[in-house]
Amino acid sequence: MSVVARTRSAVSPLRRQFVAHPVRRPTVDEVVTADRPEEPIHCLRPATVAGIAHDFVRDFPGDVLYAVKCNPDPAVLRALWDGGVRHFDCASLPEIRVVRDMFPDAAIHFMHPIKARGAIREAWDRRGVRDFVLDSADELAKIRMEVAATGVPGALGLIVRVGLPKGGAKLDLSGKFGATADEAADLLRAARACAATVGISFHVGSQCLDPLAWRDALALTGQVIAAAGVKIDVVDVGGGFPVAYPDQEPPPLGAFFAEIEAGFERLGLDGVRLWAEPGRALVAAGTSVVVQVQARRGDALYVNDGVYGSLSDAGALAFRYPVRLIRPAGGACAEATGFSLFGPTCDSADVMHGPFMLPADVAEGDWIEIGQLGAYGACLRTAFNGFDRARIIEVADEAPSAEPVRIAA
Ligand SMILES: *Cc1c(COP(=O)(O)O)cnc(C)c1O
Repeated sequence: MSVVARTRSAVSPLRRQFVAHPVRRPTVDEVVTADRPEEPIHCLRPATVAGIAHDFVRDFPGDVLYAVKCNPDPAVLRALWDGGVRHFDCASLPEIRVVRDMFPDAAIHFMHPIKARGAIREAWDRRGVRDFVLDSADELAKIRMEVAATGVPGALGLIVRVGLPKGGAKLDLSGKFGATADEAADLLRAARACAATVGISFHVGSQCLDPLAWRDALALTGQVIAAAGVKIDVVDVGGGFPVAYPDQEPPPLGAFFAEIEAGFERLGLDGVRLWAEPGRALVAAGTSVVVQVQARRGDALYVNDGVYGSLSDAGALAFRYPVRLIRPAGGACAEATGFSLFGPTCDSADVMHGPFMLPADVAEGDWIEIGQLGAYGACLRTAFNGFDRARIIEVADEAPSAEPVRIAA
């Protein structure tokens, strides 16, 4: 008897083949005017991504590893490469394959603390991955066994992830991964005994608005290294670098880099490399999504994308995004007022409270461009209720500004 298995791949950007840059990139307004789209459109701005990557790589005092899960679209990966990113933080085999297929020379780091055995073997044996993260003795034993089983020699890198107490990030990650300080010290010693490169990493949580979170985490890192008493090669300060949303106004990235550099210097380590794993900060501004208004009831707009599509963080997490009305027919735009959005599925949880600031006369048939959706947007789309379709285009114009809009409570 044979079993027929199907995998659903309709929604994953990881299955999208890389397409060469189009010769001419239109503006969003041109596309909406010409096509009057009834399905959401992801508008990608490669030049924006490349520019942000260039500045991050130039200013961060160490190596920049892009966290691929944040947006694995091949066009985004290409733009990051064009901007100077050469290191990639991958968490799964499909992410590793996409990066390796596109960039034979990229340095790929396998940064998920819990890995399938087969994934470790393929990463080591066939994809040239040498660095693996871990937060337990079990995972350390697993990595050693599987690497040895391939029979392929190479310089193993082991990065120990230490857990942090709950901090100031919008998305707390402290509960799921990370060794305690004592465990981490033991793991560093065990790693030193069998690896060519040994590092320590942490993640302060995503969209972390407070540079001092890195100071505290680096201080803890120093205590763990001292307790371990072994030489360390890498200190990895993780991701979490924030971007601006209408009600979230982080300090400039330079303030975070300065705090990290100072905290790193306080550790007084010689010949140690510094790494960071930014996701959101590199790609959020690089994609907007155009949705259409299908109905209006009071100050609620029923649109064709929602929490099961590109807007999941606007749901339970109540993220707000910069928005702009697109009305090809022209006509006056009234003064802005706050709207909530309903997504297209039948689930009452498919709601985004915002508020999103739009002209008071927004009506059925209008389009809305929603900015800052390049991170954890397109890649979270599901097929629920049949609303998995979205077009991806590359555009030339500026995204809706992330300038904060203050709303009185
Ligand atoms: C998600 C993730 C990142 C990226 O986080 P951002 O908040 O998007 O910068 C980096 N490292 C690890 C281990 C992650 O899980």
